[in-house]
Amino acid sequence: MKVLFAADGWDKWAPAIRAACPEAELLQQAAPDAVDAIIYAPNGPGCDFAAYPSARLVQSLWAGVERIAPDTSLTQPLARMVDPGLEQGMIDYCAGWVLRAHLGMDSYAQDGLWRNDLVPPLATGRAVTVLGAGALGQAVARALKGLGFDVATWSASGRGADGIPAFAGPDLDQALSRAEILVLLLPDTAETRDILNRRTLALLPQGATVINPGRGTLIDDQALLEALSSGRVRHAVLDVFRAEPLPPDHPYWAHPRVTVTPHIASETRVATAAQVVADNLRRVMRGETPRFLVDRAKGY
Ligand code: NAP
Repeated sequence: MKVLFAADGWDKWAPAIRAACPEAELLQQAAPDAVDAIIYAPNGPGCDFAAYPSARLVQSLWAGVERIAPDTSLTQPLARMVDPGLEQGMIDYCAGWVLRAHLGMDSYAQDGLWRNDLVPPLATGRAVTVLGAGALGQAVARALKGLGFDVATWSASGRGADGIPAFAGPDLDQALSRAEILVLLLPDTAETRDILNRRTLALLPQGATVINPGRGTLIDDQALLEALSSGRVRHAVLDVFRAEPLPPDHPYWAHPRVTVTPHIASETRVATAAQVVADNLRRVMRGETPRFLVDRAKGY
């Protein structure tokens, strides 16, 4: 099986994928007609998928596929990355920022004041809503539940796990109105763009925290800045933005109640992701359906 690697990071990926799937011949260049599968990420040399008529799989190395799914040259099945290492990284990121918000760690400024009247409630008394109940949303919701938080998820289908309350599409307002801490783990699609806007931000409890490691397009930035000014949102932790890198003069950088992280919430981890890639390549070799296929009509 000939597998074309069309992504950045050949030096780290090639040994890991070859070790995980020695029966695949991994190449950076190949006669287009001979290619059976393509490993792809938008940070690579680019790819005209139409030139590879025999390819039976395009395996994305990224979880977010908004830059691949709309490609009209792509007719092959597209699988997105669902990687245990990526999930653990997102759990770490979200748990860290949720705990910081929950414990009010920023309230104890080192200014000589003994604020011992600011005792946080227990995690069981803190409502957290995760928008998105996919691979990452569910992993984060489970971990937060494990820490004791009063967690709920919201997704189009309302799918849930482990007894975690799960709101479905029409119940977005309910999911938001309970969210003292809101975590956004939705993909970027036409339907999710600006999902956090003036109307929906106004539904959050006063003083809510917004944590967005999903995609920058999920938030109407002007509406969020207004909600921060009014106090509706007390703090926003933003990892993803409409324009990346976030321009140096963007108001988020200097805002006292915004924390900017530079799209580092979680990344695909080569060691674990190579096993996921290998598993899908083997499925293709056996004539089976690959896992984690993207629904191109839905965009995720
Ligand atoms: P996923 O498994 O595809 O899950 C997506 C979830 O979003 C599903 O629960 C889906 O609902 C829900 N959803 C999609 N459109 C919706 C809509 N219009 N209304 C309501 N719910 C909707 O994706 P994932 O692996 O969890 O990843 C989520 C996103 O995280 C990625 O797309 C990417 O943008 C982002 N991400 C960020 C980083 C970072 O470092 N910042 C790293 C990796 C990923 P259903 O369950 O009903 O289908």
